[in-house]
Amino acid sequence: MGPPDAILGVTEAFKRDTNPNKINLGVGAYRDDNGKPYVLPSVLKAEDQILQANMDKEYAGITGVPEFTKAAAELAFGADSPALKNKLNATTQGVSGTGSLRIGASFFAKWYSKSKDFYIPTPSWGNHTPIFKHAGLEVKQYRYYDPSTCGFDFKGAMEDISKIPEGGVVVLHACAHNPTGVDPKPEQWQEMSQVIKKRGLFPFFDMAYQGFASGDIDRDAFAVRQFIKDGHQVALSQSFAKNMGLYGERVGAFTLICESEEEMQRVMSQIKILIRPMYSNPPIHGARIAARILTTPDLRAQWLTEVKGMADRIISMRTQLRDGLKKEGSSRNWQHITDQIGMFCFTGLNSSQVERLTKEFSVYLTKDGRISVAGLSSKNVGYLAKAMHEVTK
Ligand code: PMP
Repeated sequence: MGPPDAILGVTEAFKRDTNPNKINLGVGAYRDDNGKPYVLPSVLKAEDQILQANMDKEYAGITGVPEFTKAAAELAFGADSPALKNKLNATTQGVSGTGSLRIGASFFAKWYSKSKDFYIPTPSWGNHTPIFKHAGLEVKQYRYYDPSTCGFDFKGAMEDISKIPEGGVVVLHACAHNPTGVDPKPEQWQEMSQVIKKRGLFPFFDMAYQGFASGDIDRDAFAVRQFIKDGHQVALSQSFAKNMGLYGERVGAFTLICESEEEMQRVMSQIKILIRPMYSNPPIHGARIAARILTTPDLRAQWLTEVKGMADRIISMRTQLRDGLKKEGSSRNWQHITDQIGMFCFTGLNSSQVERLTKEFSVYLTKDGRISVAGLSSKNVGYLAKAMHEVTK
């Protein structure tokens, strides 16, 4: 018998609780202000158009729906990206962000000869270590989060990265770092890009929240595009789970920016050889939805408004939580709640405070003090502020 998944276990405990005020802040999925899952109206429209078009259900090719992979790469790198114009991107559809990371990991394990060491931030998304290890890679760490400020440990990160032996792969959260919500500032990204270049390291971006962090797809892609401008070859995993709300449809992409079009062709051929025995070819429905949204001007405009709406609601919940704590009379500095970005907030609560939140107030979250801000609403944010104040007095 294996142990249960740490995050899914939180939801199970929440379900058993009979307190009417209970709140589940463990789950990493967007909720509307009534606490309900949200299907984007642009997604429903795209689905309707697909239904009307009477499309068949034939297999996609090994690398997925071509309209989708093209549109996904343009979304990440920018439609006018020289890397795309010069056909340097080897892009394949993947089974959401997780599957795309896994394809990238397999590719590096087999074909990247300089190093098998993947360096992830401390802390990082809990699935990074198992994904990379499962592909046969070694997982190491660099400093990232500073508990004393609940912010970015820029100095620590730079020191650690500058000591990585040549060829090592540096895993970077492109925006809205999970679990901390702490992102480098643009000028810090620029410095990180320089040191990664100087040390001859390989940047591998995980972009699971483009648009969902700031509400602006270009701003959230800043780091990826800056690294390309600086002349890096980058690896990139994309997920459309959050920014299109396509969670269970499993829509994602993996891209490797190559040195030449000829290298891109060779990389694509090897990616196909890796994918074929794993799952043969990816699911088509969600990829069709994403492609339609991205390539139909009015749907795309509507989607951009909707993704901004989700980001703005989360940002407003952060402000309300911080204001609520002040109103309760908390004298602690909660600035990090609004400095952090994206779905998650690393509150800085320790494990015994988290335990009290759950036991005394039926507020469910992971032991590290991470809350999913998307689980807050105008109805429960005041209750959470009160509970957080009680356990941190
Ligand atoms: N990377 C990060 C950092 C994430 O937070 C997530 C979502 N929890 C993913 C990748 C992948 O999620 P999915 O496979 O659902 O796209």
